[in-house]
Amino acid sequence: MNYLSTRGDPARRKFCDILLEGLAPDGGLYLPERYPRIDARTLADWRALYAGQGYAALAHAVLSLYIDDISSTDLQAICAKTYTEATFGTPQITPLKRLEDGFYLEALSNGPTLAFKDMAMQLLGNLFEYELTRRGQQLNILGATSGDTGSAAEYAMRGKRGIRVFMLSPSGRMSAFQQAQMYSLQDPNIHNLAIEGVFDDCQDIVKTVSGDLAFKRRYQIGSVNSINWARLLAQVVYYFAGYFQATASNDDPVRFTVPSGNFGNVCAGHVARMMGLPIERLVIATNENDVLDEFFRTGVYRVRGSDQTHETSSPSMDISKASNFERFIADLLGRDGARVAALFGEALNRAKRFDLSGEPAFAQVLTRYGFESGSSTHADRVATIRDVWARHQVMIDPHTADGVKVAHEHRSNVPMIVLETALPVKFAATIEEALGRAPDRPAHFVGIEQLSKRVTVLPADAERVKDFIAAHCADDGRCA
Ligand SMILES: *Cc1c(COP(=O)(O)O)cnc(C)c1O
Repeated sequence: MNYLSTRGDPARRKFCDILLEGLAPDGGLYLPERYPRIDARTLADWRALYAGQGYAALAHAVLSLYIDDISSTDLQAICAKTYTEATFGTPQITPLKRLEDGFYLEALSNGPTLAFKDMAMQLLGNLFEYELTRRGQQLNILGATSGDTGSAAEYAMRGKRGIRVFMLSPSGRMSAFQQAQMYSLQDPNIHNLAIEGVFDDCQDIVKTVSGDLAFKRRYQIGSVNSINWARLLAQVVYYFAGYFQATASNDDPVRFTVPSGNFGNVCAGHVARMMGLPIERLVIATNENDVLDEFFRTGVYRVRGSDQTHETSSPSMDISKASNFERFIADLLGRDGARVAALFGEALNRAKRFDLSGEPAFAQVLTRYGFESGSSTHADRVATIRDVWARHQVMIDPHTADGVKVAHEHRSNVPMIVLETALPVKFAATIEEALGRAPDRPAHFVGIEQLSKRVTVLPADAERVKDFIAAHCADDGRCA
């Protein structure tokens, strides 16, 4: 399998080359040359595989179709090491919870940081360690986080050979639980940098440091952001696992509803559907930051400024543009790289919008690709959390609540699976508002706020961050 850029660069790359990269050199995102089609026989084999040998074996089968530069035995070992009951809490890894007949939650948030990003990040940690060891290289991961992504990255990379993490977070601005989750890590290869500023300051520093190409090369700076193809690929697997649990036969269609921000999670659903998984609809649920809902309703993609980006009670979906969206548009436009480059390059930076409403391709968004969408508000989240608790005695987090609310508006006689993207304990304030009580806390998280913290506070100054990185690495990238 070869990978190419959404923007038409003629170069073809292998999986392990794009694994350690971010954007393609022309600024596009990597996509596989084609989506392997699964025939009925293979789908039947995979159903039996998941039932008999479990999630790791299913992951190995799916990933094998996209990765041909890691041996099958090694890939199998990486999947087996990643998707364990010890890490994800249950033998199914992503168990379905039935709320009522034909309406399910798929639990993606029982990993180490209690959000679905662990599903991909845990695999990424093992893939990075494997490939860096093979190349004899080191990597210094630099990132900015306001919560979920940074902690998932740290828990995936802790203790990994050849990898250090420098994670910037806005000092004092995350919840006590989120701070405890990240700052309590004592692993010497994990560095928490609390920046005296807001999340945007952290992101600006990451951009400045990564933009210093000499520094970047010298210290082997890399990232784990949501446009990484390996992350997206890891997420394809749980669409199959959810499907097999919700249906008795491979003739049965299902619908998925996906709480969405950067379009990474639902893009994995799109890939599963292109492979032939019988997904009748992919329903995108947004919060008040409805960039995606607006596009799927109207054909207009309108990037928001930071002044138009709402801070909501489902904060991991608070986006101004959807960084993975270009992948779907590339498919929609028949992989016309020049066209994608024209839409997403400089023109989008200037005009902040494009409009496909008049194009024949836009009509195919539903008919050919199965996409629908809806959005939700804070009042909807609170009402939905209350309703699900009252009727089913199941506590859901605000992001999942966005999904449940929109899923109800898109039900039919086909089973609906809502992806549960986080556990309620991470968002205690909204749960208390909705239910008048604190969320349940898994036993091993009791008292984490009292653990000793390993964090360095720095001013919002890229030079100080560079000094910190340099002080912790020798010139060859090895830790001093
Ligand atoms: C990241 C995240 C999302 C959004 O996922 P995308 O892949 O960015 O669309 C939704 N819910 C939670 C809890 C998240 O952490």
